[in-house]
Amino acid sequence: MTMNEVGKNLELIEKELSPYKTKLLPVSKTFSVERMMDAYDYGYRAFGENRVQELLTKYEAMPKDIAWHLIGHLQTNKVKFISPFIALIHSVDSEKLLIEIDKQAARAGRVINCLLQVFIATEETKFGWDINEIKDWYSSNKIEKYKNINVLGLMGMASNSSDENLVKKEFSTLKALFEHLKQYDLSSNSKMETLSMGMSGDFKIAAEEGSTLVRMGSAIFGYR
Ligand SMILES: *Cc1c(COP(=O)(O)O)cnc(C)c1O
Repeated sequence: MTMNEVGKNLELIEKELSPYKTKLLPVSKTFSVERMMDAYDYGYRAFGENRVQELLTKYEAMPKDIAWHLIGHLQTNKVKFISPFIALIHSVDSEKLLIEIDKQAARAGRVINCLLQVFIATEETKFGWDINEIKDWYSSNKIEKYKNINVLGLMGMASNSSDENLVKKEFSTLKALFEHLKQYDLSSNSKMETLSMGMSGDFKIAAEEGSTLVRMGSAIFGYR
């Protein structure tokens, strides 16, 4: 059997993840529909994109049985473009955004799955809730009033650093928060079950620290 490059990469990554309960989300941003179809033909039916426009273009071009994940920062004025079909939004970084997603989901007659993005890195540039802010907010059970939202867990990005101890510490902080918040799964539309952490450069550390979903692009599709 001959297998293309993307298939070989997927096979290798799956082998590395096999000791863990960690699933793989291929991140296709900047890569062509042709390369994405290699992953599709291999068996993948979910893809992550970080920009709304690119996601919409690929949604049009690709088969219709794909679960689309938005993983990048989402502006409130763009929610309406993805609300009819998006499978999971990883990057919900404020209550303001959640309110807009709830509104657009209602308009589309859907319930939209969301992850709350938590700020765990040392860099100033990354989006997300502060740890204390999310503890207060999640335990207050405000989610209950957003009937068209389903919160499935947390997402985080570690510092873009070669210091493995730093990355490990950030992931373990997020995992501890994830476990802590489980006691506040108070409403039928909120449950801590998905922990989206880890990318091509740090997925092994993330899997060791308890990630349930790694988001990987370059390790599958090549350099950007
Ligand atoms: C691009 C991106 C990834 C994947 O990055 P790779 O280094 O290509 O694996 C993961 N998460 C987010 C939020 C991204 O924007």
